[in-house]
Amino acid sequence: MSKVLVFGHQNPDTDTIGSAIALDYLLNELSHESEAVALGKPNDETAYALDYFRLDVPRVIETAADEVSEVVLVDHNEAQQSVSDIEEVKVKAVVDHHRIANFKTSDPLYYRAEPLGCTATILLKLFKEHEVTVPSDIAGILLSAIVSDTLLLKSPTCTPEDVRAAEELAEIAGVSLDEYGLNMLKAGADISEKTAKEILNDDAKTFDMGSETVRIGQVNVVDTSDVMLRKEDILEEMREETREHDYGLYVLLVTDILESNSVAIVDGPGYRQFEIAFSKPLQLNTVDLEGVVSRKKQVVPPLNDVFSKR
Ligand code: MN
Ligand code: MN
Repeated sequence: MSKVLVFGHQNPDTDTIGSAIALDYLLNELSHESEAVALGKPNDETAYALDYFRLDVPRVIETAADEVSEVVLVDHNEAQQSVSDIEEVKVKAVVDHHRIANFKTSDPLYYRAEPLGCTATILLKLFKEHEVTVPSDIAGILLSAIVSDTLLLKSPTCTPEDVRAAEELAEIAGVSLDEYGLNMLKAGADISEKTAKEILNDDAKTFDMGSETVRIGQVNVVDTSDVMLRKEDILEEMREETREHDYGLYVLLVTDILESNSVAIVDGPGYRQFEIAFSKPLQLNTVDLEGVVSRKKQVVPPLNDVFSKR
């Protein structure tokens, strides 16, 4: 078998990078030639985790067909979140925990999707199924991924399996789950040095909903007012990007990692659709979303329902 590239989505998060590193390790243990790469530089949180467990930062790529003919996707499947030339390569395998949309292949493939809180939890299962021991640095980055995706096991996406996996991985990695987890989340929550564009785009994803393209960013903070003080700059940047890419709606979810609440900043032609989806009026482009921390489970589905009915 020729070499495969293993990677997650654009604007990589800790699960996308951690799961790619772990799956690459597993593939190598199973005698496949592979390399973990990323579709962007690690964010501050992921950089903290990689540094803590002394793992290399994956090489950044934008296209794949110029170097390989086969790829393995982790933590995503939607084409618009992947390499720009995804149609030109063969997707050999997918390991993911998202909705399946905009995804088709011409050949049969290995597809592992489970409705768990994190791709890393599926990775731990794959190691066990293949009877491969998880080394401590890989356990550390998989743990980091679970902490990141589940906001320290508090997100509604978090399942009992994710909790058990996190506890087991913390043990192997030799860290305290709560102490390490909070330090890692805090490392990613400092936005003081970030531009409005970075705040919007560092963790943004694009979704096809009905006939519209919806952009949803998310930023984790320990105090939402840090972001709210910069609302006008953020709205201006949203409007520019909306014009450029013809988005039907732009949402930034500002998530308080200590309180497990979010405030949404919203703009674009689908402003009213957002109000319908959440049965709440926006006030000057913002609304409190109590208990909302998961874009995937609490924001995408209600928006998708409203946009699909238009
Ligand atoms: Mn992800
Ligand atoms: Mn994930």
